[in-house]
Amino acid sequence: MSDSSLVDIGYVYTEVSAIKPGVARVRAGFNTHKTKSLQFRLNQLRNLYFAVHDHQEAFAHALYQDFHRSETETRIAEIHTVLKNILYAMANLHQWIQPEAVSDLPINLRTNKVYTERIPYGVVLVMGAYNYPVHVTLSPLAGAIAAGNAVVLKPSEQTPRFSQLLTEVLTRALDPDVFWMVNGGVPETQALLDEKFDKIIFTGSPTVGTIVAKKAAETLTPTCLELGGKSPAIVLSDVKDKDIDTIAKRIVWGRFTNGGQTCIADDYVLVHQSRHKRLVEAMKRAVEESYPNLTPDSPDYTHMVSSRAYDGIIDLITTSKGTVVTGGVTDADRNTRFVPPTILDDVSWTDSSMKREIFGPVLPVVVYDSLPDACARIVNYHDTPLALYIFTSGPTARGKNPQVDLIRRSVRSGGTIVNDTLIHGVLSNAPFGGIGSSGTDAYGGKWSYDNFTHERVTIEQKLWNEFMVGVRYPPFNEKKGKALQYALQEYGGHVWFNRSGDVPIDGPSSFFKLWAGVTGTACLILAFAQAL
Ligand code: NAD
Repeated sequence: MSDSSLVDIGYVYTEVSAIKPGVARVRAGFNTHKTKSLQFRLNQLRNLYFAVHDHQEAFAHALYQDFHRSETETRIAEIHTVLKNILYAMANLHQWIQPEAVSDLPINLRTNKVYTERIPYGVVLVMGAYNYPVHVTLSPLAGAIAAGNAVVLKPSEQTPRFSQLLTEVLTRALDPDVFWMVNGGVPETQALLDEKFDKIIFTGSPTVGTIVAKKAAETLTPTCLELGGKSPAIVLSDVKDKDIDTIAKRIVWGRFTNGGQTCIADDYVLVHQSRHKRLVEAMKRAVEESYPNLTPDSPDYTHMVSSRAYDGIIDLITTSKGTVVTGGVTDADRNTRFVPPTILDDVSWTDSSMKREIFGPVLPVVVYDSLPDACARIVNYHDTPLALYIFTSGPTARGKNPQVDLIRRSVRSGGTIVNDTLIHGVLSNAPFGGIGSSGTDAYGGKWSYDNFTHERVTIEQKLWNEFMVGVRYPPFNEKKGKALQYALQEYGGHVWFNRSGDVPIDGPSSFFKLWAGVTGTACLILAFAQAL
């Protein structure tokens, strides 16, 4: 959509010149310290909850208008998840804010209170992608508010009706001293990045993520990057015929939900050659069952977000050397940006569909023979995917299935699911995030709270215990040196491992600890004796 047509539908760009004073206003709001109050945070979260709750139909409808997003998918995948996340934070915040005692203190600090407390970063910039625009803006927002931050929020310009509505709703719901929304595209994002924030959370592509991280590095601003990648679904040789239909359904659901525009979608299937033909037949059936009589008007199937994204997907299908099993370009429609669910069979690792994250309704199928070789190729071609899906008819527990264990050991990923796709995205209290090129840091429940706070260690030292710490002051002499040596050495100077051989995996034994305690106390007495 051009800038002028965005304006025609009521999308209001934030003036670039308004960004500096806007951010300064929010910082001044943070400096009033009102966000430090638990009551204030809870009340803001309550307002956010009702803002989403009361506008869920309108949000779903705006997204349907923006990119023919299935309204049911908006409710299932976004609204319910966000409402759950807000409630989870509200229910647990009073516990999360409690300081945590530090254990295993050196003996001369045991008369003090030592603990960690979590303090808000300050002013947090939240920037969201277009594909799940409720979840990727409001879940981090809830975490940032719970953590006591002031927030500047920028939703995607690619869902203009939704972003405009969200701006109006949240501007009414949240305290304007400590919350502000910015709308726009590249120039507005660049102007935002010229400002100093205390933390930035960006959800989007690795390309823009790199721009954000570089810019943030100039001011030493920490970033949480929620990016994308090429997530494989691996179908193992042990899969039984009776399970093929279920597996096919789950793979198809993961890929074609939201028209394939899901960061954790299974981007390609890697199937053992013994299961290949049956799986492909079953996936074709699963597409037909999930999307019967599919047309551009079908309400349950989402379209591409923009003409550019549509053209990219059509180009990918036309240049692929894979065999079109279902879908393809013949039914596609540029006016509505509709691309039918497309399965490409017998695809090679160098095919056009295997170059980068697809982010559209295309599912390439790569056949493998040797699992170690398949794992090596995942690492070589698309290391550190955001998600890793493994399908087996065998045991799923760690250590029980050598094939599953091999994959887990070989491939690093943001998240892993055995025998399903996508479902980790709706957990209210689990770390959602990537690794390497698929992102850094994670949010979700307590992890959101931790992500948006700095954990600082605090010691409440006594003033009466100078005799316990006095040996640290210069001038040093032999007596003081010995006292310090006795006082500081751990376990009375002994260790529970030898210079060669394996280090015991379960740490020091109880006997060692007892003995080390006795000698440690003896050392301390010696230390005092030296110091006096
Ligand atoms: P994008 O990175 O293309 O755009 C995000 C935003 O960045 C845009 O709204 C735009 O305002 C801004 N932008 C674009 N180019 C810029 C530039 N040159 N300089 C400064 N700002 C710029 O992402 P998208 O198209 O909105 O979303 C798709 C991507 O997001 C996919 O890669 C997907 O995997 C990823 N994603 C990740 C997660 C996750 O949680 N890990 C969730 C959703 C989407």
